[in-house]
Amino acid sequence: MGASNTVDITVVGAGIIGVACALQLARQGRRVVVVDPQDPGMGASYGNAGHLATEQVFPIADSSILKRLPAMLMDPMGPLRLDWKYLPRALPWFARLLLNLRPASYRRTVAGIRALNEASLGAWQRLLQSIEQAQLLRADGSLLVYERAESHAAIEALRERMQQQNVAVAVWSGDAVRQAAPQLSDSIQGALFFPGTGHFLDPFHVVGELVKAAKAQGVQFLKQRVVDGRVEADGVSLMTDQGVLTARQVLIACGAHSARLTTALTGKKVPLDTERGYHLMLPHEQDRLPFAVTSFERKFIMTPMLGGLRLAGTVEFAGLLRPPNMQRAWQLHRLSQGLFRQDLSTQGATPWMGFRPSLPDSLPIIDRVADGKVLLAFGHQHLGLTQAAVTAEMVVQLLKPEPLNPGLPAQGAYRLERF
Ligand SMILES: Cc1cc2nc3c(=O)[nH]c(=O)nc-3n(C[C@H](O)[C@H](O)[C@H](O)COP(=O)(O)OP(=O)(O)OC[C@H]3O[C@@H](n4cnc5c(N)ncnc54)[C@H](O)[C@@H]3O)c2cc1C
Repeated sequence: MGASNTVDITVVGAGIIGVACALQLARQGRRVVVVDPQDPGMGASYGNAGHLATEQVFPIADSSILKRLPAMLMDPMGPLRLDWKYLPRALPWFARLLLNLRPASYRRTVAGIRALNEASLGAWQRLLQSIEQAQLLRADGSLLVYERAESHAAIEALRERMQQQNVAVAVWSGDAVRQAAPQLSDSIQGALFFPGTGHFLDPFHVVGELVKAAKAQGVQFLKQRVVDGRVEADGVSLMTDQGVLTARQVLIACGAHSARLTTALTGKKVPLDTERGYHLMLPHEQDRLPFAVTSFERKFIMTPMLGGLRLAGTVEFAGLLRPPNMQRAWQLHRLSQGLFRQDLSTQGATPWMGFRPSLPDSLPIIDRVADGKVLLAFGHQHLGLTQAAVTAEMVVQLLKPEPLNPGLPAQGAYRLERF
Protein backbone atom coordinates (compact mmCIF):
# COMPACT_ATOMS: atom_id res chain seq x y z
CA MET A 1 0.00 0.00 0.00
CA GLY A 2 1.68 3.23 -1.06
CA ALA A 3 1.33 6.57 0.64
CA SER A 4 -1.46 8.70 -0.66
CA ASN A 5 -0.06 11.60 -2.59
CA THR A 6 -2.98 13.74 -1.52
CA VAL A 7 -2.37 13.65 2.25
CA ASP A 8 0.84 14.95 3.80
CA ILE A 9 0.09 14.25 7.44
CA THR A 10 -2.56 12.17 9.18
CA VAL A 11 -3.07 13.32 12.75
CA VAL A 12 -4.38 10.53 14.98
CA GLY A 13 -6.45 12.04 17.81
CA ALA A 14 -8.58 15.17 17.85
CA GLY A 15 -7.88 16.33 21.38
CA ILE A 16 -6.44 19.75 22.13
CA ILE A 17 -2.96 18.53 21.14
CA GLY A 18 -3.95 16.93 17.83
CA VAL A 19 -6.21 19.79 16.78
CA ALA A 20 -3.71 22.55 17.66
CA CYS A 21 -1.01 20.65 15.73
CA ALA A 22 -3.31 20.04 12.74
CA LEU A 23 -4.10 23.74 12.45
CA GLN A 24 -0.46 24.81 12.66
CA LEU A 25 0.67 22.13 10.19
CA ALA A 26 -2.03 23.14 7.71
CA ARG A 27 -0.87 26.74 8.03
CA GLN A 28 2.53 25.54 6.82
CA GLY A 29 0.89 24.41 3.61
CA ARG A 30 0.58 20.71 4.56
CA ARG A 31 -2.48 18.72 3.54
CA VAL A 32 -3.75 17.40 6.86
CA VAL A 33 -6.36 14.81 7.87
CA VAL A 34 -7.40 14.29 11.50
CA VAL A 35 -8.80 10.90 12.53
CA ASP A 36 -10.74 10.24 15.73
CA PRO A 37 -13.69 7.94 16.49
CA GLN A 38 -15.19 10.64 18.71
CA ASP A 39 -16.11 14.23 17.99
CA PRO A 40 -13.09 16.53 18.45
CA GLY A 41 -12.33 17.44 22.04
CA MET A 42 -14.31 14.65 23.72
CA GLY A 43 -11.29 13.07 25.46
CA ALA A 44 -9.37 14.57 28.38
CA SER A 45 -9.51 17.91 26.58
CA TYR A 46 -13.26 18.10 27.20
CA GLY A 47 -13.34 18.24 30.95
CA ASN A 48 -10.04 19.47 32.29
CA ALA A 49 -9.84 22.24 34.86
CA GLY A 50 -9.11 24.90 32.25
CA HIS A 51 -6.14 26.18 34.21
CA LEU A 52 -3.19 27.59 32.26
CA ALA A 53 -0.97 26.06 34.91
CA THR A 54 2.39 27.63 34.10
CA GLU A 55 3.27 27.63 37.81
CA GLN A 56 3.22 23.81 37.97
CA VAL A 57 6.87 23.18 37.18
CA PHE A 58 7.30 20.23 39.55
CA PRO A 59 6.22 16.70 38.69
CA ILE A 60 3.05 15.61 40.44
CA ALA A 61 4.79 12.87 42.44
CA ASP A 62 7.63 13.02 44.87
CA SER A 63 9.30 10.36 47.00
CA SER A 64 6.49 10.58 49.59
CA ILE A 65 4.29 8.68 47.12
CA LEU A 66 5.64 5.37 48.45
CA LYS A 67 4.62 6.26 51.99
CA ARG A 68 1.18 7.15 50.70
CA LEU A 69 0.70 3.89 48.80
CA PRO A 70 -1.20 2.09 51.61
CA ALA A 71 -3.62 5.02 51.98
CA MET A 72 -4.06 5.13 48.19
CA LEU A 73 -5.12 1.50 48.24
CA MET A 74 -7.43 1.84 51.24
CA ASP A 75 -9.29 5.10 50.68
CA PRO A 76 -11.53 5.10 47.58
CA MET A 77 -12.30 8.80 48.07
CA GLY A 78 -8.77 10.09 48.72
CA PRO A 79 -7.18 12.63 46.37
CA LEU A 80 -4.79 9.92 45.15
CA ARG A 81 -6.29 6.49 44.52
CA LEU A 82 -4.88 3.22 43.22
CA ASP A 83 -7.34 0.51 42.27
CA TRP A 84 -6.33 -2.84 43.85
CA LYS A 85 -7.04 -4.71 40.65
CA TYR A 86 -4.85 -2.32 38.68
CA LEU A 87 -1.91 -2.59 41.08
CA PRO A 88 0.06 -5.28 39.11
CA ARG A 89 -0.29 -3.25 35.88
CA ALA A 90 0.68 -0.01 37.62
CA LEU A 91 3.75 -1.27 39.48
CA PRO A 92 6.28 -1.03 36.61
CA TRP A 93 5.11 2.56 35.95
CA PHE A 94 5.51 3.42 39.63
CA ALA A 95 8.96 1.84 39.63
CA ARG A 96 10.02 4.10 36.75
CA LEU A 97 8.45 7.09 38.46
CA LEU A 98 10.55 6.42 41.54
CA LEU A 99 13.70 6.10 39.42
CA ASN A 100 12.87 9.48 37.94
CA LEU A 101 12.91 11.01 41.39
CA ARG A 102 16.70 10.61 41.58
CA PRO A 103 18.23 14.10 41.72
CA ALA A 104 19.61 14.26 38.16
CA SER A 105 16.41 12.89 36.59
CA TYR A 106 14.27 15.12 38.77
CA ARG A 107 16.26 18.19 37.70
CA ARG A 108 15.85 17.16 34.05
CA THR A 109 12.11 16.79 34.51
CA VAL A 110 11.72 20.17 36.18
CA ALA A 111 13.80 21.85 33.47
CA GLY A 112 11.70 20.13 30.78
CA ILE A 113 8.35 21.11 32.29
CA ARG A 114 9.58 24.61 32.99
CA ALA A 115 10.79 25.19 29.43
CA LEU A 116 7.36 24.22 28.07
CA ASN A 117 5.45 26.20 30.68
CA GLU A 118 7.52 29.34 30.17
CA ALA A 119 6.65 29.31 26.47
CA SER A 120 2.99 28.36 27.01
CA LEU A 121 1.24 31.65 27.66
CA GLY A 122 2.87 33.39 24.69
CA ALA A 123 2.10 30.45 22.40
CA TRP A 124 -1.55 30.39 23.50
CA GLN A 125 -1.92 34.13 23.05
CA ARG A 126 -0.49 33.90 19.54
CA LEU A 127 -2.72 30.95 18.66
CA LEU A 128 -5.94 32.43 20.04
CA GLN A 129 -5.27 35.84 18.52
CA SER A 130 -4.67 34.19 15.17
CA ILE A 131 -8.20 32.74 15.26
CA GLU A 132 -9.68 35.91 16.81
CA GLN A 133 -10.62 34.14 20.04
CA ALA A 134 -8.23 35.78 22.50
CA GLN A 135 -11.14 36.31 24.93
CA LEU A 136 -11.30 32.56 25.65
CA LEU A 137 -8.18 32.81 27.80
CA ARG A 138 -8.12 35.05 30.87
CA ALA A 139 -4.50 35.60 31.78
CA ASP A 140 -5.22 37.14 35.16
CA GLY A 141 -3.56 34.73 37.54
CA SER A 142 -4.68 32.07 39.99
CA LEU A 143 -4.49 31.37 43.71
CA LEU A 144 -3.29 28.51 45.89
CA VAL A 145 -5.09 29.05 49.20
CA TYR A 146 -4.43 27.43 52.56
CA GLU A 147 -6.56 27.20 55.68
CA ARG A 148 -4.41 25.66 58.39
CA ALA A 149 -1.75 27.60 60.24
CA GLU A 150 0.39 24.42 60.11
CA SER A 151 0.41 24.67 56.28
CA HIS A 152 2.20 28.01 56.38
CA ALA A 153 5.71 26.49 56.50
CA ALA A 154 4.99 24.13 53.59
CA ILE A 155 3.52 26.98 51.56
CA GLU A 156 6.57 29.11 52.30
CA ALA A 157 8.89 26.27 51.24
CA LEU A 158 6.90 25.82 48.03
CA ARG A 159 7.11 29.53 47.30
CA GLU A 160 10.85 29.43 47.71
CA ARG A 161 11.23 26.38 45.44
CA MET A 162 9.03 28.01 42.82
CA GLN A 163 10.94 31.26 42.93
CA GLN A 164 14.16 29.31 42.41
CA GLN A 165 12.55 28.06 39.20
CA ASN A 166 11.67 31.61 38.13
CA VAL A 167 7.92 31.16 38.71
CA ALA A 168 6.31 34.55 39.39
CA VAL A 169 4.63 34.24 42.79
CA ALA A 170 3.30 36.67 45.38
CA VAL A 171 2.25 36.03 48.97
CA TRP A 172 -1.29 37.13 49.83
CA SER A 173 -2.88 37.46 53.27
CA GLY A 174 -6.30 35.97 54.00
CA ASP A 175 -7.77 39.48 53.76
CA ALA A 176 -6.16 40.06 50.37
CA VAL A 177 -7.68 36.75 49.19
CA ARG A 178 -11.15 37.80 50.36
CA GLN A 179 -10.76 41.21 48.78
CA ALA A 180 -10.14 39.58 45.39
CA ALA A 181 -12.60 36.72 45.93
CA PRO A 182 -15.16 37.95 48.49
CA GLN A 183 -17.15 34.70 48.41
CA LEU A 184 -14.31 32.72 49.97
CA SER A 185 -14.64 32.02 53.69
CA ASP A 186 -12.75 33.36 56.70
CA SER A 187 -11.12 29.95 57.07
CA ILE A 188 -8.55 30.97 54.48
CA GLN A 189 -5.33 32.07 56.17
CA GLY A 190 -3.44 33.14 53.09
CA ALA A 191 -2.39 32.18 49.60
CA LEU A 192 0.19 32.18 46.89
CA PHE A 193 -0.86 34.22 43.87
CA PHE A 194 0.60 33.29 40.48
CA PRO A 195 0.33 36.27 38.10
CA GLY A 196 1.75 34.35 35.11
CA THR A 197 -1.14 31.88 35.01
CA GLY A 198 -4.68 32.07 33.70
CA HIS A 199 -7.79 30.12 32.86
CA PHE A 200 -9.78 29.18 29.80
CA LEU A 201 -13.46 30.03 29.82
CA ASP A 202 -14.37 26.66 28.28
CA PRO A 203 -11.70 24.15 27.21
CA PHE A 204 -14.10 22.23 24.93
CA HIS A 205 -15.10 25.45 23.19
CA VAL A 206 -11.41 26.21 22.63
CA VAL A 207 -11.06 22.88 20.77
CA GLY A 208 -14.18 23.73 18.75
CA GLU A 209 -12.79 27.10 17.66
CA LEU A 210 -9.49 25.49 16.65
CA VAL A 211 -11.39 22.87 14.65
CA LYS A 212 -13.30 25.63 12.83
CA ALA A 213 -10.06 27.39 11.99
CA ALA A 214 -8.43 24.11 10.91
CA LYS A 215 -11.35 23.29 8.61
CA ALA A 216 -11.12 26.77 7.11
CA GLN A 217 -7.46 25.98 6.45
CA GLY A 218 -8.47 22.81 4.58
CA VAL A 219 -8.02 20.21 7.34
CA GLN A 220 -10.33 17.23 6.94
CA PHE A 221 -11.80 15.43 9.98
CA LEU A 222 -12.63 11.71 9.73
CA LYS A 223 -14.61 9.81 12.36
CA GLN A 224 -12.61 6.59 12.42
CA ARG A 225 -10.65 4.60 14.99
CA VAL A 226 -7.09 3.72 14.09
CA VAL A 227 -6.45 0.08 15.04
CA ASP A 228 -2.99 -0.51 13.60
CA GLY A 229 -0.30 1.04 11.44
CA ARG A 230 2.69 0.30 9.30
CA VAL A 231 5.61 2.38 8.09
CA GLU A 232 6.04 1.93 4.34
CA ALA A 233 8.85 2.91 1.97
CA ASP A 234 7.10 6.13 0.98
CA GLY A 235 4.92 6.94 3.96
CA VAL A 236 2.65 5.40 6.58
CA SER A 237 -0.45 3.22 6.30
CA LEU A 238 -3.03 3.31 9.06
CA MET A 239 -5.63 0.59 9.43
CA THR A 240 -8.86 1.97 10.80
CA ASP A 241 -12.23 0.45 11.67
CA GLN A 242 -13.34 1.60 8.22
CA GLY A 243 -10.40 0.86 5.94
CA VAL A 244 -6.86 1.99 5.26
CA LEU A 245 -5.58 5.56 5.31
CA THR A 246 -2.26 6.47 3.80
CA ALA A 247 -0.11 9.57 4.09
CA ARG A 248 3.48 10.68 3.87
CA GLN A 249 3.64 11.20 7.63
CA VAL A 250 1.56 10.48 10.70
CA LEU A 251 1.30 12.41 13.96
CA ILE A 252 0.31 10.32 16.96
CA ALA A 253 -1.66 12.56 19.32
CA CYS A 254 -4.23 10.27 20.91
CA GLY A 255 -3.44 11.20 24.49
CA ALA A 256 -3.58 8.29 26.93
CA HIS A 257 -4.35 5.91 24.04
CA SER A 258 -1.11 6.59 22.14
CA ALA A 259 1.06 3.65 23.27
CA ARG A 260 -0.15 0.89 20.95
CA LEU A 261 0.16 2.84 17.72
CA THR A 262 3.57 4.14 18.80
CA THR A 263 4.77 0.55 19.25
CA ALA A 264 3.25 -0.49 15.92
CA LEU A 265 5.00 2.34 14.04
CA THR A 266 8.30 2.60 15.89
CA GLY A 267 8.82 -0.76 17.61
CA LYS A 268 9.25 1.13 20.90
CA LYS A 269 7.23 0.33 24.01
CA VAL A 270 6.41 3.53 25.85
CA PRO A 271 5.48 3.41 29.54
CA LEU A 272 2.36 5.50 29.05
CA ASP A 273 -0.35 5.14 31.68
CA THR A 274 -3.29 7.22 32.69
CA GLU A 275 -3.93 9.29 35.78
CA ARG A 276 -7.69 9.44 35.72
CA GLY A 277 -9.21 12.69 36.93
CA TYR A 278 -12.71 13.92 37.67
CA HIS A 279 -14.70 17.10 37.54
CA LEU A 280 -18.04 18.29 38.83
CA MET A 281 -19.59 21.14 36.85
CA LEU A 282 -21.85 23.47 38.84
CA PRO A 283 -23.93 25.47 36.33
CA HIS A 284 -25.42 27.83 38.93
CA GLU A 285 -22.12 28.96 40.38
CA GLN A 286 -20.67 30.92 37.50
CA ASP A 287 -19.85 34.10 39.41
CA ARG A 288 -18.37 32.76 42.64
CA LEU A 289 -14.72 33.25 41.73
CA PRO A 290 -12.80 35.73 39.60
CA PHE A 291 -10.11 33.20 38.64
CA ALA A 292 -8.99 29.64 39.36
CA VAL A 293 -8.48 28.82 43.04
CA THR A 294 -6.74 25.67 44.28
CA SER A 295 -6.94 24.46 47.85
CA PHE A 296 -3.57 23.39 49.24
CA GLU A 297 -5.02 21.07 51.89
CA ARG A 298 -8.11 19.80 50.08
CA LYS A 299 -6.16 19.21 46.85
CA PHE A 300 -8.58 20.27 44.16
CA ILE A 301 -9.14 23.26 41.90
CA MET A 302 -12.18 25.45 41.19
CA THR A 303 -12.29 27.32 37.89
CA PRO A 304 -14.94 29.82 36.78
CA MET A 305 -16.11 29.01 33.26
CA LEU A 306 -18.84 30.10 30.87
CA GLY A 307 -20.93 27.06 31.87
CA GLY A 308 -20.51 27.46 35.64
CA LEU A 309 -17.92 26.70 38.28
CA ARG A 310 -15.82 23.60 37.56
CA LEU A 311 -14.48 21.65 40.54
CA ALA A 312 -11.74 19.35 39.32
CA GLY A 313 -8.86 17.19 40.40
CA THR A 314 -8.04 13.86 42.01
CA VAL A 315 -5.71 11.25 40.59
CA GLU A 316 -6.90 7.68 40.15
CA PHE A 317 -4.77 4.82 38.83
CA ALA A 318 -7.27 2.36 37.37
CA GLY A 319 -6.32 2.17 33.70
CA LEU A 320 -8.29 2.91 30.56
CA LEU A 321 -10.91 0.18 30.85
CA ARG A 322 -12.50 0.30 34.30
CA PRO A 323 -15.71 2.34 34.48
CA PRO A 324 -15.52 5.70 36.26
CA ASN A 325 -16.41 5.98 39.93
CA MET A 326 -18.49 9.16 39.75
CA GLN A 327 -18.64 9.28 43.54
CA ARG A 328 -15.16 10.75 43.19
CA ALA A 329 -16.60 13.63 41.16
CA TRP A 330 -19.32 14.28 43.75
CA GLN A 331 -16.66 14.11 46.44
CA LEU A 332 -15.29 17.35 44.97
CA HIS A 333 -18.42 19.14 46.17
CA ARG A 334 -17.97 17.74 49.65
CA LEU A 335 -14.40 19.03 49.55
CA SER A 336 -15.64 22.53 48.69
CA GLN A 337 -17.77 22.73 51.84
CA GLY A 338 -16.37 25.32 54.20
CA LEU A 339 -14.26 27.08 51.57
CA PHE A 340 -17.05 29.56 50.77
CA ARG A 341 -19.21 31.78 52.94
CA GLN A 342 -22.18 29.92 51.50
CA ASP A 343 -22.02 26.34 50.19
CA LEU A 344 -22.04 25.80 46.44
CA SER A 345 -25.26 24.70 44.79
CA THR A 346 -25.25 21.28 43.09
CA GLN A 347 -28.44 22.02 41.16
CA GLY A 348 -27.99 20.64 37.65
CA ALA A 349 -24.42 19.48 38.45
CA THR A 350 -22.74 17.06 36.03
CA PRO A 351 -19.91 14.68 36.91
CA TRP A 352 -17.17 13.68 34.45
CA MET A 353 -14.05 11.52 34.29
CA GLY A 354 -11.13 11.79 31.87
CA PHE A 355 -7.79 10.16 31.15
CA ARG A 356 -4.65 12.21 31.71
CA PRO A 357 -1.90 10.79 29.48
CA SER A 358 1.05 10.31 31.82
CA LEU A 359 4.60 9.13 31.37
CA PRO A 360 6.57 8.31 34.52
CA ASP A 361 8.97 11.23 34.06
CA SER A 362 6.09 13.74 33.74
CA LEU A 363 7.35 15.00 30.37
CA PRO A 364 5.53 14.58 27.06
CA ILE A 365 7.00 12.95 23.98
CA ILE A 366 7.37 15.52 21.20
CA ASP A 367 9.51 13.98 18.51
CA ARG A 368 10.00 12.91 14.92
CA VAL A 369 11.17 9.32 14.32
CA ALA A 370 11.12 6.47 11.75
CA ASP A 371 13.01 8.41 9.08
CA GLY A 372 10.85 11.42 9.78
CA LYS A 373 7.63 9.60 8.91
CA VAL A 374 6.26 9.40 12.44
CA LEU A 375 5.67 12.47 14.57
CA LEU A 376 4.76 12.12 18.24
CA ALA A 377 2.95 14.56 20.54
CA PHE A 378 1.44 12.91 23.60
CA GLY A 379 1.94 12.32 27.31
CA HIS A 380 1.23 15.84 28.58
CA GLN A 381 -0.20 14.49 31.87
CA HIS A 382 -1.69 17.29 34.03
CA LEU A 383 -0.55 20.02 31.65
CA GLY A 384 -1.87 19.17 28.19
CA LEU A 385 -4.09 22.19 27.92
CA THR A 386 -1.34 24.50 29.17
CA GLN A 387 1.23 23.06 26.77
CA ALA A 388 -0.91 22.45 23.66
CA ALA A 389 -0.10 25.64 21.78
CA VAL A 390 3.64 25.44 22.40
CA THR A 391 3.58 21.74 21.48
CA ALA A 392 1.99 22.62 18.14
CA GLU A 393 4.72 25.20 17.48
CA MET A 394 7.36 22.59 18.34
CA VAL A 395 5.80 19.99 16.02
CA VAL A 396 5.93 22.50 13.17
CA GLN A 397 9.54 23.20 14.07
CA LEU A 398 10.32 19.47 13.84
CA LEU A 399 9.54 19.70 10.14
CA LYS A 400 11.66 22.76 9.52
CA PRO A 401 15.39 23.23 9.59
CA GLU A 402 15.23 26.74 11.01
CA PRO A 403 13.64 27.62 14.36
CA LEU A 404 10.11 28.98 14.15
CA ASN A 405 10.38 30.94 17.32
CA PRO A 406 13.57 31.44 19.31
CA GLY A 407 11.58 31.16 22.57
CA LEU A 408 10.69 27.50 21.95
CA PRO A 409 12.12 24.80 24.22
CA ALA A 410 14.95 22.65 22.87
CA GLN A 411 13.65 19.28 21.69
CA GLY A 412 16.10 17.09 23.61
CA ALA A 413 14.13 16.50 26.79
CA TYR A 414 11.05 15.26 24.96
CA ARG A 415 12.58 12.57 22.74
CA LEU A 416 11.12 9.07 22.41
CA GLU A 417 14.57 7.52 22.78
CA ARG A 418 14.70 8.38 26.49
CA PHE A 419 12.60 5.21 27.03
C1 LIG B 1 -9.68 16.23 35.69
C2 LIG B 1 -8.61 16.79 34.79
C3 LIG B 1 -8.20 18.10 34.95
C4 LIG B 1 -7.20 18.63 34.15
N1 LIG B 1 -6.88 19.94 34.31
C5 LIG B 1 -5.94 20.50 33.49
C6 LIG B 1 -5.65 21.88 33.59
O1 LIG B 1 -6.27 22.61 34.37
N2 LIG B 1 -4.67 22.39 32.79
C7 LIG B 1 -3.99 21.61 31.90
O2 LIG B 1 -3.10 22.12 31.22
N3 LIG B 1 -4.29 20.29 31.75
C8 LIG B 1 -5.25 19.73 32.52
N4 LIG B 1 -5.55 18.40 32.40
C9 LIG B 1 -4.80 17.58 31.44
C10 LIG B 1 -5.28 17.77 30.02
O3 LIG B 1 -6.68 17.70 29.97
C11 LIG B 1 -4.67 16.70 29.11
O4 LIG B 1 -3.27 16.64 29.29
C12 LIG B 1 -4.97 17.02 27.66
O5 LIG B 1 -6.34 17.19 27.46
C13 LIG B 1 -4.45 15.91 26.75
O6 LIG B 1 -4.82 16.24 25.45
P1 LIG B 1 -4.66 15.21 24.27
O7 LIG B 1 -5.12 15.88 23.04
O8 LIG B 1 -3.29 14.62 24.33
O9 LIG B 1 -5.63 13.99 24.68
P2 LIG B 1 -7.21 13.85 24.58
O10 LIG B 1 -7.92 15.12 24.80
O11 LIG B 1 -7.57 12.72 25.49
O12 LIG B 1 -7.45 13.45 23.08
C14 LIG B 1 -7.04 12.21 22.57
C15 LIG B 1 -7.98 11.87 21.43
O13 LIG B 1 -7.47 10.67 20.79
C16 LIG B 1 -8.58 9.93 20.38
N5 LIG B 1 -8.20 8.54 20.18
C17 LIG B 1 -7.94 7.61 21.11
N6 LIG B 1 -7.66 6.43 20.52
C18 LIG B 1 -7.74 6.64 19.18
C19 LIG B 1 -7.57 5.80 18.06
N7 LIG B 1 -7.24 4.51 18.18
N8 LIG B 1 -7.73 6.33 16.82
C20 LIG B 1 -8.03 7.64 16.67
N9 LIG B 1 -8.20 8.48 17.71
C21 LIG B 1 -8.07 7.98 18.96
C22 LIG B 1 -9.59 10.10 21.50
O14 LIG B 1 -10.91 9.80 21.05
C23 LIG B 1 -9.39 11.55 21.89
O15 LIG B 1 -10.30 12.40 21.24
C24 LIG B 1 -6.57 17.84 33.17
C25 LIG B 1 -7.01 16.51 32.97
C26 LIG B 1 -8.02 15.99 33.75
C27 LIG B 1 -8.50 14.59 33.50
